Amino acid sequence: MTQSKLPNVGTTIFAVMSGLAEEHGAINLSQGFPDFSPSEKLISMVNRYMERGYNQYSPPMGHPKLRQAISQKTENDYGVYFDPDKEITVTSGATEALFCAITAFTNPGDEIIIFEPAYDSYVPAIELSGGIPVPIELSYPDFSVDWDQVKQKISAKTKMLIINNPHNPTGAILDEADLNTLAEIAESNDLKVISDEVYEHIVFDGKTHQTVLGNESLRARSLFIASLGKTFHATGWKVGYCIAPEELSREFRKIHQFVTFCTHTPTQLGYADFIQNRKEYLDLPTYYEKRRNKFLSLIKGSRFEWSPAGGTYFQLLSYKGISEEKDVDFAKKLTVENGIASIPISVFFSSRKDEKVLRFCFAKKDETLERAAEIICQI
Ligand code: PMP
Ligand code: GLN
Repeated sequence: MTQSKLPNVGTTIFAVMSGLAEEHGAINLSQGFPDFSPSEKLISMVNRYMERGYNQYSPPMGHPKLRQAISQKTENDYGVYFDPDKEITVTSGATEALFCAITAFTNPGDEIIIFEPAYDSYVPAIELSGGIPVPIELSYPDFSVDWDQVKQKISAKTKMLIINNPHNPTGAILDEADLNTLAEIAESNDLKVISDEVYEHIVFDGKTHQTVLGNESLRARSLFIASLGKTFHATGWKVGYCIAPEELSREFRKIHQFVTFCTHTPTQLGYADFIQNRKEYLDLPTYYEKRRNKFLSLIKGSRFEWSPAGGTYFQLLSYKGISEEKDVDFAKKLTVENGIASIPISVFFSSRKDEKVLRFCFAKKDETLERAAEIICQI
């Protein structure tokens, strides 16, 4: 008999719901990815590097040109300089970066605080390292963090906190006061912070994204994780990166070199040229805010309830007034019988807390949102 290292893990909900949508020809607003293409210019840049022969390994920490470009981009965005040789590591998506960061700093018996609903790769990575996830449950509809509760959960075994801002699946965002409190807590308990900021450029309603990189105290103890796939509409290319102080980056890189060694070289080079131009991503908040508003105005007549997402490209809809069914069953039923796929939220809670809420991805073309809304309004 094989003894599973992850006995409680099945297939990730994203693969399950996308598979079900495909099987039943449903409109897929479940897994988070755009149904439109990345920029033609970016595609042709990557192509050109392949044609010009840049098809072999890059250094494990990432191609120097891309690390340089990330350093410049980060300085432009957040006004802080990071050394591309010592503090920036390119990874095969944020998923890989999260795995390396969690693995590098979790030892058997360490407690790692996470906020639930939590992105589904955190808990398995903690458990594979023998760590103990300590969940703090956030609640519908605003999913704000109660920092006193965080303080109460800290023990002598606590080593790290994982935050996700803007937050998937809820669309909630942290403000400056949240980060200041987090900084105080992390500093006084000597905790590291993994900050999953893959939606850093998707914040709405005139708000500014609050990054750990902008807070001096947090910057010194955090691993900041980003995804170029989210920012440049190319989730299938799997390029992400980690920014962390030299000492943390050194440990991070020890793991990363044996997970993937390096990331797809021509894609790194294409991005290195492309991301220098800030115009390519600075209107993302406006772009996705329009998608959010369009989606919400199209479903105005429906029986679902919501409060508008503050960031990310996900909108939660509550079906409390429609059905008593479990969210997983309801999401599957809507996919099979109504032709619309979403993500049930209970799967992101260790306790499987079910608040009768589904997540819909609005990173979709007008026509997709229109067809989706027509169905949603009939439910
Ligand atoms: N963290 C969060 C919160 C996400 O939503 C995603 C989306 N896939 C990831 C990490 C992983 O990003 P990537 O696709 O770059 O691996
Ligand atoms: N982050 C994407 C989402 O939340 C999915 C990524 C994945 O499938 N692993 O839908």
